[in-house]
Amino acid sequence: MITTLPRPTGRKPDTAIYERRESAVRSYARVMPRQFNRAENVWMHDNQGGRYLDFLSGCSTLNYGHNHPVLKQALLDYIAADGIAHGLDLHTDAKAEFLETLESLILKPRRLDYRAMFTGPTGTNAVEAAIKLARKVTGRELVIAFTNGFHGMTLGALACTGNAAKRGGAGVPLAHVAHEPYDGYHGPEVDTAELLERRLSDPSSGLDAPAAILVETVQGEGGLNAASPEWLRRINAIAKRHGALMIVDDIQAGCGRTGSFFSFEGMGFTPDIVTMAKSLSGMGLPFALTLFRPELDQWAPGEHNGTFRGNNHAFVTASAALRHFWSDRRFEQDIARRGALVARRLEAMAAQHGLSTRGRGMMRGIDVGSGDIAAAVTTACFERGLIIETSGAHDEIVKILAPLVIDDAQLSAGIDILETCIAEALGAPYGVAAE
Ligand SMILES: *Cc1c(COP(=O)(O)O)cnc(C)c1O
Repeated sequence: MITTLPRPTGRKPDTAIYERRESAVRSYARVMPRQFNRAENVWMHDNQGGRYLDFLSGCSTLNYGHNHPVLKQALLDYIAADGIAHGLDLHTDAKAEFLETLESLILKPRRLDYRAMFTGPTGTNAVEAAIKLARKVTGRELVIAFTNGFHGMTLGALACTGNAAKRGGAGVPLAHVAHEPYDGYHGPEVDTAELLERRLSDPSSGLDAPAAILVETVQGEGGLNAASPEWLRRINAIAKRHGALMIVDDIQAGCGRTGSFFSFEGMGFTPDIVTMAKSLSGMGLPFALTLFRPELDQWAPGEHNGTFRGNNHAFVTASAALRHFWSDRRFEQDIARRGALVARRLEAMAAQHGLSTRGRGMMRGIDVGSGDIAAAVTTACFERGLIIETSGAHDEIVKILAPLVIDDAQLSAGIDILETCIAEALGAPYGVAAE
């Protein structure tokens, strides 16, 4: 149990090597100018003795915390036995075990019948495979994506991403994608599913028949906007009616982040295609997966490939994570309780300062009004030993992506820091209890 966090003693280390040799493209390192050397569970340590509570979790890649002992032991045993590390897409014991575990613990209990395609190991690869497959199967070009959506940095996925700064890096036109308003984009009064239906039904709207509709159920990078189950069900029905495939990008929202293994569970629809990555390996190892209905599996052998398809070390840790966390409902109950705690605390802060909250499950944030204020908040949090980042079109949302395994006392201690730093940044007196 902890009630307060010690202020990190870490001094800023010498960063000359990074300035001299590492590309200017680095970004997180600029706002957290420390040199990290160790991490366990919810803690990261720098090489000057500083300790930080991690409310970023590798952007939801470390849902089970850093170096979870069960996953770590499974990997150590596998390496000690000279298990296959790299095997292209060859059959291996580790792959068979992952597929069997996925089938028995995830797909069958949820009555989902998906084929699994191992793509290159990053999320953007899984998205590329999904949109390529949708275009191939339907013979259509257009993908409908949404305002504030984030789907990755390679050209196909980047075309589906909304953020202008990211798109600007492409250097070529980003084509064959239409960005339609997400749920709530025009405020609560405007039904954006109805707008999309109108445009697709109107032969004179200028919108071509789409191959796919690509959507996040909660927009991880785009501001933690959470679509309602009703809206998502209607997007699914619209896709069906217009002969398009619905792709749910569950790279950030999946693996328990919103409360269940898939973020769309219990919503009354089944996506045609689902992309997974980030926390799938459970230990931060690169690993991505595109799941789709078996009838859609129209790939020719090798038509989409990649050298690192099926990271065998990730198969081992992913199987161990599924067995450890997803064999029963206990983990989901823990996430629900922790998510409710985060929601209650954020809503209290929002009420106190006239702000608003976003998100669902353990994927939540607070809109502090501007990117400058949010940056001041996250910088102040970091100085007090809390790693936390921003999200949104103007980086104005401070987002909590704590490890899902965090205990309630640690979670409260981190939120206490956030509360103090928000009060400080907004000029309110500190230490005013919100409850
Ligand atoms: C992170 C992310 C991606 C891209 O994954 P990478 O591993 O960075 O390529 C795609 N979609 C969503 C929703 C993400 O959060």
